[in-house]
Amino acid sequence: MNCIIHRRAQFSASRRYWLPELDEAENQQRFGPCSRFPGHGHNYVLVVSRAGELDRYGMVQNFSGLKQIIKTEVIRQLDYTYLNDVWPEFRQTLPTTENMARVIWHRLASHLPLVQIQLFEHPELWADYRGNGMEASLTLKTHFSAAHRLALPELSYEENCEIYGKCARSHGHNYHLEVSVTGEIDSRTGMLVDLGALQGAINELVLEPLDHTFLNKDIAYFGTVVPTAENIALYIARLLTEPIRELGAELEKVKLFETPNNSCEIYCCSSSHKQEDEGI
Ligand SMILES: [Zn+2]
Repeated sequence: MNCIIHRRAQFSASRRYWLPELDEAENQQRFGPCSRFPGHGHNYVLVVSRAGELDRYGMVQNFSGLKQIIKTEVIRQLDYTYLNDVWPEFRQTLPTTENMARVIWHRLASHLPLVQIQLFEHPELWADYRGNGMEASLTLKTHFSAAHRLALPELSYEENCEIYGKCARSHGHNYHLEVSVTGEIDSRTGMLVDLGALQGAINELVLEPLDHTFLNKDIAYFGTVVPTAENIALYIARLLTEPIRELGAELEKVKLFETPNNSCEIYCCSSSHKQEDEGI
């Protein structure tokens, strides 16, 4: 039986987005405050996922052995360093979070049959790399607050209560939203998307219009569509697909938490488009 195990590790390191072939003004224009001397730091959280068969001891791999490999090959080498200088890969391609995930994969791949490298720059921004050339994913996590009521307009209040329970009454949530985009890492800047522009698009197209609204009344789309978490996620995915494409990336997934217990995901890759086209 094939099984995937995950091991988490942490390190602290600094970096600077700076290309020597550009002058001061060009670096500043391209990378903003991240270009400042002498750089800035993060407490990175790394999650290494590997696959394998269970052995006679009931393990894919002894976790302490896995911990040791990650410690030797990554943590001891990167912890408390200036990333731009520590590994030659980062002199070729800047140590953005997505590029770091890619490089860590290649450093570990000869030791472990990897499935995924996940690297958190902070709890609301992380990269996923799965061994596909220069392709990686970036996820931004954010939140908004809104009220809604789950009810079909053609049904009575009693009938809606029958279907949606208490949610047929007006109430609100603090929604947590994760937007994942996928794309090719630039071989020089290390970036798969302009993060500032992505944040700007999410703010402008999603957070600003939806935050502190009564969805059923304030958002025209939900005048006829019941604003369940699933429909809100689908709406957000539709709002973001084209603008993210214009930034040179693809929307991969929208995950919406209505409460810590209830969440849903919309996958925006080709297979989900196919399902949509088929009327599913
Ligand atoms: Zn609700």
